[in-house]
Parts: sequence; C-alpha cells; structure tokens
Amino acid sequence: MLRLITAILIMMTCFSNTARSSSLDLDVVAPFDAELKYPFTKEASVGCGRWGKGSQDYPYFAAPRNKGRRRHAGVDLYPAGGAGTVVVAMRGGVVTRVAPFYRRANGEMTYAVLVDHGDFSINYAELKRPGLHPGTEVKQGQPLGQISGTRQLHLEMYAGGAKTWTSGWYGAKPGNLLDPTSLLLQLYQHP
Ligand SMILES: [Zn+2]
Repeated sequence: MLRLITAILIMMTCFSNTARSSSLDLDVVAPFDAELKYPFTKEASVGCGRWGKGSQDYPYFAAPRNKGRRRHAGVDLYPAGGAGTVVVAMRGGVVTRVAPFYRRANGEMTYAVLVDHGDFSINYAELKRPGLHPGTEVKQGQPLGQISGTRQLHLEMYAGGAKTWTSGWYGAKPGNLLDPTSLLLQLYQHP
C-alpha cells in the first residue's frame, strides 16, 4: 500500500514538473522590441488613467466592447514608437492566414497575420498590409509586418492549429481562444 502511494506521489510530482517546465520553456520572444506606452492587465490599464470609466477601448483580454455586447478577444500592446513599429514572430511557425482585419473610421484598412507556432497560434493584428502569404514558414524573430495607424498590436492567442481568428467574441468564449496575458507578462516590463 505504502509503495503504491509512493508511486502515485512520484507520478504526480513528475506531471506537475512537466506542466511547470513546459510553460516556462515556451521559448518565445516579444512580438516587438520596444517599451510599452501603457499597461495591458485589467487592473493596471483601468488604474493608469489613460482610459475613462466605462471605456470600450481598454486593452486587456475580455474587456467590454460594443456597450458590453462583445468582448475583446486579444490584448492591445502599445509600443512607444507607435505606427510603423516592426512586429516579429514570437517563435518559429507557419503562416496560416493573412487577411484584412478591420477598416478604421478614417478609411485605413488594417491586416492580420495568423501564425501556427505549434503548441499555440498567434494572430498578429492591426498591421499595415503585410507581404506574407499562407504557407510561409517563419523563423523566431522574423519580421511579419508593421503596426498600422492604430499605433497598437492587437494580439490574439489560440490553441495550436488555428486556421482562422474569431470574427467577434459574443456570449461564450470561443473554445480555442486563449488568454495571452500571463505569457506577455513574462516578455514585457509592465509600465
Ligand atoms: Zn484589440
């Protein structure tokens, strides 16, 4: 009996070590090499004074949009350099989709590049028109595009193998959509 309990304890220890080390060993780089202008966690972005109470523009994951009918499916990262900042692949992977993301009120079209990084996929969005195509292999740190006139990278994280991004998070969270906040906190000094 004691031997069985010992065996179970050893197994549990191994599994928890595996989970911990795989999350720390993700081997990712920041999607741009620049200081952030604003924080991106819920607490810090609400508290920083950049956005007013009830704003529909908070950068944090799951923030309310469209008067609360929709939720923000990604995190907005604001590089100090603004528009034109080069966005790079956080890890090697394969481009799975390149398409318009949304058109701004001033008429500018923004684009998104979805990359399958293996364990997870990242949608790098609100870019100027990128020169990449689906099927292109990218290396870690390889430029994917430049930040558009929105002056922010809208970053969505999905389970590996995502073929497209969500067209809008209404009601229940899309099943393969992940919260990238803790990963991004490992990559950026939070202002
Ligand atoms: Zn966004």
